[in-house]
Amino acid sequence: MVLKYDVGIVGGGPAGYTAAFYARKSGKSVVLFEKDLIGGVCLNRGCIPTKTILHSAELFDEMKNASCLGIEVSDVKVDFEKVMEHKDEVVAKLRKNLELSLKNSGTVVKNEFAEILDAHLIKTQNETYECEQIICAVGSEPSVPSDFRFDGRFILNSDDVLNLKKLPEKVVIAGSGAIGCEWARIFSSFGVEVVLVELENHILPLADVEVSKRIERIFKMKKIKFFTSVSVSKIVPEDENSVCVTLSNGEVLSADFVLMATGRKPVKHQKIAGVKYIGDAAGSIQLAHFAIKQAIFETAQIPYDENLIPSVVYGTPEIAWIGLREQDLDEGTYQKSVFLISALGKSHCDNCAEGFIKLLCREGLIIGAHIVSKEASSLIQQIVIAMQNKISVEKLKEICFAHPTYSEGIFECICNLK
Ligand SMILES: Cc1cc2nc3c(=O)[nH]c(=O)nc-3n(C[C@H](O)[C@H](O)[C@H](O)COP(=O)(O)OP(=O)(O)OC[C@H]3O[C@@H](n4cnc5c(N)ncnc54)[C@H](O)[C@@H]3O)c2cc1C
Repeated sequence: MVLKYDVGIVGGGPAGYTAAFYARKSGKSVVLFEKDLIGGVCLNRGCIPTKTILHSAELFDEMKNASCLGIEVSDVKVDFEKVMEHKDEVVAKLRKNLELSLKNSGTVVKNEFAEILDAHLIKTQNETYECEQIICAVGSEPSVPSDFRFDGRFILNSDDVLNLKKLPEKVVIAGSGAIGCEWARIFSSFGVEVVLVELENHILPLADVEVSKRIERIFKMKKIKFFTSVSVSKIVPEDENSVCVTLSNGEVLSADFVLMATGRKPVKHQKIAGVKYIGDAAGSIQLAHFAIKQAIFETAQIPYDENLIPSVVYGTPEIAWIGLREQDLDEGTYQKSVFLISALGKSHCDNCAEGFIKLLCREGLIIGAHIVSKEASSLIQQIVIAMQNKISVEKLKEICFAHPTYSEGIFECICNLK
């Protein structure tokens, strides 16, 4: 028997479940297939677990340094098992909520592997589904340079580190994108010796170069060692507990393991005409909020601007950007304003005065924003709204920003623009 639905969705990550919610909102019957855990990478192995562990790491850091704020805490220790247990609890709680929301929305969820046969047919082990519209949201998986292979022991990917039972003493992280930098900060806050290895000539190579340089300075202050324009060339087990890592510059390091944060590739799938491919599977921007925007567009036709997808790297301080970078612009074709976070009262109240806001502007409109600051993940959103709605710098100057806040930094930065 062939089962009929208006919409069939393969993959239950942010792209898939958002598509399900929006298709149901418009009254369509929806079947969603998930072979593993609802929530996909974002909820189970990405955004949520890493940010939960990061919060523990940041709290530990803050507590170690709290005496200057008049808080005496003695004997601050990390119980890593408990950190991971807490992370699992957070993920499980959110997954349960999501499963319930899907159920309440009227989405039929099938916990199985599904194969898309053509523009209207999906096959599982025992059933065939005929759907008017098929959405493929199968996501992505960690990728590794061809000379290496993940072994779950000495060469780990971003899934493996979420299953660590104890804190390592020394780690090498290959790749300084968002995942590499976030783990460098997590490990370092927990007291692990970290060496970050980046092939490009700056840490966080996708960021504005001034941001990369500031992060390099911050990493130096935090004793996170890094190499740029260097790659990992050899990894050989030394004994049961460590590996010997040779870098392309001849440096030889010893570590508990190497975390390969060297990118992700779309899960292998056939390209079938008439099927919509969204999220990481589509192979462009690999971010949960981009996956969500694509899903909403496919199911509710609400448009988005692919050039205005914010990037955020979490940790202390946060890093966020949108639009053009200074290195992409020709000299004399833009105006620039930089405001130091240390000039804000609030940053001193919070003991978090590190960072800056940089705005790039052309013909009275903001064309790029680059922020290193506490709350950068929220601050960037103000700029996204201004850019997307083409609100001029002159108009933005009329807005009242609350005091004391980090948003005042946005205001001051805007006021310095002509
Ligand atoms: C460590 C880490 C941290 C991250 N942090 C952030 C962050 O802070 N912010 C951010 O925006 N993004 C972050 N990301 C990226 C984000 O997780 C992804 O962009 C997002 O999960 C993509 O959503 P998706 O729905 O396209 O795919 P996925 O989340 O990968 O979901 C795809 C789902 O499809 C299922 N599936 C695959 N094939 C089949 C099949 N044949 N049948 C049935 N089911 C199938 C999979 O099991 C999976 O659950 C992070 C990623 C990682 C790895």
